[in-house]
Amino acid sequence: MSDLTATEAIQPNQEQVYPAPVKTVEPGSPADRAGVRPGDLLLRVNGEAVTDVLAYRWRLSQGRAVLEMSRPVARPTVLSGVLGTAQDHHTLAYDPAAPTFTFEVEWEDPGLEFEEVLFDGIKKCANKCDFCYVHQMPRGFRKSLYIMDDDYRLSFLYGSFVTLTNLTESDINRILDENLSPLYVSVHTANQELRQDLMKWWKLKVKDPQAVQIRSMIERLESIDLYTQIVLVPGRNDREHLDDTVEYLSSRPNVISAAVVPIGLTAHRTNLPDVRTFTREEAQDTLARLNRWRRQFLGERGTRFVFPSDELYLLAGEPLPTEEEYEGFPMLENGVGMIRDFLTEGLPDDLPSALPAPRKIILGTGSLFAESLDRAVEPLRAIEGLEIEVRAVENKTFGKVTTVAGLLTGRCFRHAVRPGEADLLIVPPTTLRYGTELMLDDTSLSDLRAELRMDVRAGGATLGELARVIFENVASSGHQWGMSAHAVKDGGARGQA
Ligand code: SF4
Repeated sequence: MSDLTATEAIQPNQEQVYPAPVKTVEPGSPADRAGVRPGDLLLRVNGEAVTDVLAYRWRLSQGRAVLEMSRPVARPTVLSGVLGTAQDHHTLAYDPAAPTFTFEVEWEDPGLEFEEVLFDGIKKCANKCDFCYVHQMPRGFRKSLYIMDDDYRLSFLYGSFVTLTNLTESDINRILDENLSPLYVSVHTANQELRQDLMKWWKLKVKDPQAVQIRSMIERLESIDLYTQIVLVPGRNDREHLDDTVEYLSSRPNVISAAVVPIGLTAHRTNLPDVRTFTREEAQDTLARLNRWRRQFLGERGTRFVFPSDELYLLAGEPLPTEEEYEGFPMLENGVGMIRDFLTEGLPDDLPSALPAPRKIILGTGSLFAESLDRAVEPLRAIEGLEIEVRAVENKTFGKVTTVAGLLTGRCFRHAVRPGEADLLIVPPTTLRYGTELMLDDTSLSDLRAELRMDVRAGGATLGELARVIFENVASSGHQWGMSAHAVKDGGARGQA
C-alpha cells in the first residue's frame, strides 16, 4: 500500500482513451485523498487506456498502479428549438486538452466506483438468429431494449449469454490471460453448418471466420468454465442434432452444463424466417431424449449436466423435476428451475382462518404458468373473506403466442383487469425492470394503481414471498399478519361491528 503521490499536471497523449466517469469516491480512500470527485474521469492506468472495469481491476491486481484522471469541463450547449442563449445550458464533457492529474496505489483499492462497467461501449452481436427476440419486438419501446449486445465482458460480470462469434484474437487472448471464467455461451448446436444456418452471422461483422467455429472455440477456451445453452427450434436443431450437441458438449471438460430452452416467439415476425413452437408431442420427445442423457450423466459423473427449461416441461405437460434434480439452480436466470424454486418456499403454516374484511386479489401471470400458480395458492382459498383469482393474462403487446410471464407489459394488464374489480393486483416480479417499478413498456406500478383503481404490487420470487405480499396488503387494511387465527377472527368480528 502506498500513500498518495503528488498531484501533477501531465500532457495527454494522442492515444485513444475511454473516459470513465466516476460515480462514487469512498471517503478516506486513496482517490478521496487525491481529491477525486464524482464526475471526474478515469483516463489511463499505468499510462494505458482502460476499456472496462475488468481491465481496471486487472491492472490493480498487478500491484503498483498510477491512475490518470481528468476533470470534465463545462461546455455551452445550444438546445435546438429552445430560445435563449447557449450560456443558459451546459454539459460536462471530456476535454483532451485539459490537464490531467495522477495518483498512485500499490495493492490497494483506490476507492472508485464508475457509472458504467464498460468504458468503450457494448460489443454488438454479429448474428441474425432466426429466433432473435430483438427482431420480434414491436416498435415503440425504450431504445435499450433493441440493443443486440453480445459482449463477453457482460457474460463474465452478469451471466448474460454470448455467442462468441464476434470475438477477435485479442479478445480470446484476453479471456484466457485474465481468466474471465465462467462465461455463458449460446451454443444452439455443435454442428457448425447448422449453427451458421440458425444464426446467419453477417460475414462482414465476424472478425475471424475461424474463430466462430464453435467446437474449436470451446476447445481454445479450455481453461474457462462454460455454462452453455441450446435454444431449440423444432425441425432444425432438435432430435438427433440435439443428441449430437449434448454428446459433444458433455465431452468437453470445461463445459459445466447445458440448458435447453425451446424457441420463444412473438406475433411480430414480419419478414423473418418461418419458425414455429413445439407441439406437446415434440416437447415430450425432447424431454425423453434429454432424460436418457440425464440418467446416463448422473450415473457416470454425478451431475445431470443437461437441464431442460421450465417451459419445456409445461409444453410437454410433464411434472417438474424435484428441487434436488436442479443441483443448486445454477441457471435460474435462464428459466431453468424458476417454478420449482418458486415452490420451494411454500405458504406459511400459520395461515389465518379468516380476514377482518373481505378482500379480492388478482394474481396476474402468463398463461404458461397460470395453472401451476392456481394449484399452488389453493390453500389460501380456505381463508374466509379472501378471494384469490389467478388470471392468465393475454399478451397484448407481443401477441397471444407469447405466454411467459416476464414479457407481460402494462398494456396487457390494462386489457386483462377492469378498473376497481379487485382490491389488489399482484404482477410477476419478472415483469419489472431490475431495481425499478417499471414494466417493459415503461408503465409503472403507480400508473397501474391509478388506472385500475386498486393497489398493484409485485409478487415474490417464491410462494412464501408471494404470501407475504398478499398479507402485507391485508394487514394494511386492518389484518395483523402473524396473529393467531383466533385473534384474527376476534379482530375481524370487531372490525365488522
Ligand atoms: S445473438 Fe442472435 S438472438 Fe442474440 S441478439 Fe444477436 S441475433 Fe439476436
